[in-house]
Amino acid sequence: MAKPKAGRRTLDSYTVKHMNKSIRAGECVLMRPSDPSKSSYVARIDRIEADSRGANVKVHIRWYYRPEESIGGRRQFHGSKEVFLSDHYDVQSADTIEGKCTVHSFKSYTKLDAVGNEDFFCRFEYNSATGAFNPDRVAVYCKCEMPYNPDDLMVQCEGCSDWFHPTCIDMTVEEARRLDHFFCENCSAEGQTKLQNSHSSSRHSDTKVDTKRRRR
Ligand SMILES: [Zn+2]
Ligand SMILES: [Zn+2]
Repeated sequence: MAKPKAGRRTLDSYTVKHMNKSIRAGECVLMRPSDPSKSSYVARIDRIEADSRGANVKVHIRWYYRPEESIGGRRQFHGSKEVFLSDHYDVQSADTIEGKCTVHSFKSYTKLDAVGNEDFFCRFEYNSATGAFNPDRVAVYCKCEMPYNPDDLMVQCEGCSDWFHPTCIDMTVEEARRLDHFFCENCSAEGQTKLQNSHSSSRHSDTKVDTKRRRR
């Protein structure tokens, strides 16, 4: 990282006047794109620097890339609020900051009660020269073996704990939402209904489940 130029100093925090909010190193911000038709850029502030009079404030940032800005483009499992922490560092005028935002870990993002405009999540680091991701593998789920897209509803099998997309198990999203219990094809006794309701299982299927359990 570049050392501050002579006469310039690092600020602990800085109040961006047009948004009347203070920013600090380590926080994430939205920055105005040069092309106004594009969505705001997401960046993490590494350092805030000003001249000796405290003016001409610059932010040293590390860009987050949106999936469509990556070499591989947006994939089906990428969430709408997903960003990649890139190795692309930059220095920008603090005036281009439009607002603050939060880049959550994948886990904490999936636990949010409501996702606001300023909420994003990051599960990959991205090498902007090679297009490589770190980690280069993530857990995959369902019959389609896709990584989890937090925008998509999935149902969990009570047998194997794998998660499934409603469409991959011939179910509508509405049907999936109404499920009390779910066992996938592999875990439900052959021919038995996928929708196991605690009260609807017959004597017959109880026996079957028992047999299966004993055999294990
Ligand atoms: Zn699937
Ligand atoms: Zn299962």
